[in-house]
Amino acid sequence: MAAVESYDVVVCGLGAMGSATAYQLARRGVRVLGLDRLSPPHRFGSTHGDTRVTRQAIGEGLAYVPLAQRSHQLWREIEAQTGAELLTTNGLLVLASPGLQTRHHGKTRFLETTIEAARAFSIDHEELSAAEISSRYPQLRLSGDESGYFEPGGGFVRPEAAVSAQLELARRSGAAIRTVEAMTGYVQDTDGVTVTTTAGRYAAGTLVLAAGAWLGAILGEPYARDFAISRQVLHWYAVDGPIEPYLPDRFPVFIWDRQPVSFYGFPAIDGRDGGLKVAAEQAVPSATVDDVSREVGTGELYGFYDAIVRDHLPGLARRCIRAVTCMYTTTPDGDFVIDRHPEHPSVVILSPCSGHGFKHSAAIGEAVAATVAGEVPVVDLSPFSLQRLRPQSVPS
Ligand SMILES: Cc1cc2nc3c(=O)[nH]c(=O)nc-3n(C[C@H](O)[C@H](O)[C@H](O)COP(=O)(O)OP(=O)(O)OC[C@H]3O[C@@H](n4cnc5c(N)ncnc54)[C@H](O)[C@@H]3O)c2cc1C
Repeated sequence: MAAVESYDVVVCGLGAMGSATAYQLARRGVRVLGLDRLSPPHRFGSTHGDTRVTRQAIGEGLAYVPLAQRSHQLWREIEAQTGAELLTTNGLLVLASPGLQTRHHGKTRFLETTIEAARAFSIDHEELSAAEISSRYPQLRLSGDESGYFEPGGGFVRPEAAVSAQLELARRSGAAIRTVEAMTGYVQDTDGVTVTTTAGRYAAGTLVLAAGAWLGAILGEPYARDFAISRQVLHWYAVDGPIEPYLPDRFPVFIWDRQPVSFYGFPAIDGRDGGLKVAAEQAVPSATVDDVSREVGTGELYGFYDAIVRDHLPGLARRCIRAVTCMYTTTPDGDFVIDRHPEHPSVVILSPCSGHGFKHSAAIGEAVAATVAGEVPVVDLSPFSLQRLRPQSVPS
């Protein structure tokens, strides 16, 4: 085997979280190696499908607001440095009927918490009645008892472009980025870790595990049971009639909290040919990444249209232009885990973001990099400790 190369930090996984962390480490002058078993951005993890919802008032909890706000600032900086188009603030609408018991990303009272967050952080927004929503967006068919939240600074981020831009900036700052090289194991040494991969062996002071849905398999039990994998399906339906009402300047990103299942959608960012992306959270668990079926059957496409799309977006045709699968990695309470491994103090666990992590990823990467580099992070990561899930584990 080749001689062991030495780095300050190895980042395992270069999706949303790992690419942000590698970039932020490299710009601090930290000697970083980023590894990925595939070649990001790719369509086999959790960071693909053209768009991710972003918003500043976070219905999953107020602790997330500084992360989203900082990410918006960082994306603008990254856009300026690379010329990439990442963040589009065409407006974000959250709507719900009163008294809902549904969960969105594991949380009830999603609309109420969103409004509470907007008020607490003075985020520009409007609170709308069903009549106001219908008159502004006749493309949506409401039942009439909904109320809504509109955030003009919300919208969508382009996940693949964000990963590419951050990897480019990481390389420019001196990071070693190796793709199609999988980590096969690591050992906690007295003063760091030794990482083995399909191509070699590396010594590092810190290992950041940003492996997304593969994280549980790397950590093993008892940790793996806290990181459930589920298959999700994204659909792009064709628009009947003129496309103009669905373009980003006339149609917002929306999250519709409804019984029995919430769903969300985006404007037609690629015009008529691209259609409208619509999806709902699915809680179908998979034991391992390898069990996740990548095929989407025609029954699934028609079933989703008949159950949800037809009644709420009557301008969409019963014709799916494209569909892809993606994976959530979800913790029992739906909140993130960003923490040191309780038994391996040189290892940082970074990925399980329960289906709502992308909008926070730039700031998470910055905060993890700052912490590893011995700085005080600009956002607080303490709400995301592993210890809250396993109070019996030994803190590092
Ligand atoms: C369908 C869907 C919709 C979503 N919608 C939103 C949204 O609207 N807004 C939002 O904010 N968030 C959303 N999310 C969540 C968000 O996209 C994820 O939280 C985020 O992208 C996860 O990034 P990650 O870096 O943890 O994982 P990934 O991007 O999957 O990266 C993990 C990487 O690790 C690599 N890897 C794994 N094992 C190894 C190994 N042994 N060695 C080397 N490399 C390895 C993989 O190849 C992969 O590239 C959504 C997620 C899904 C699936």
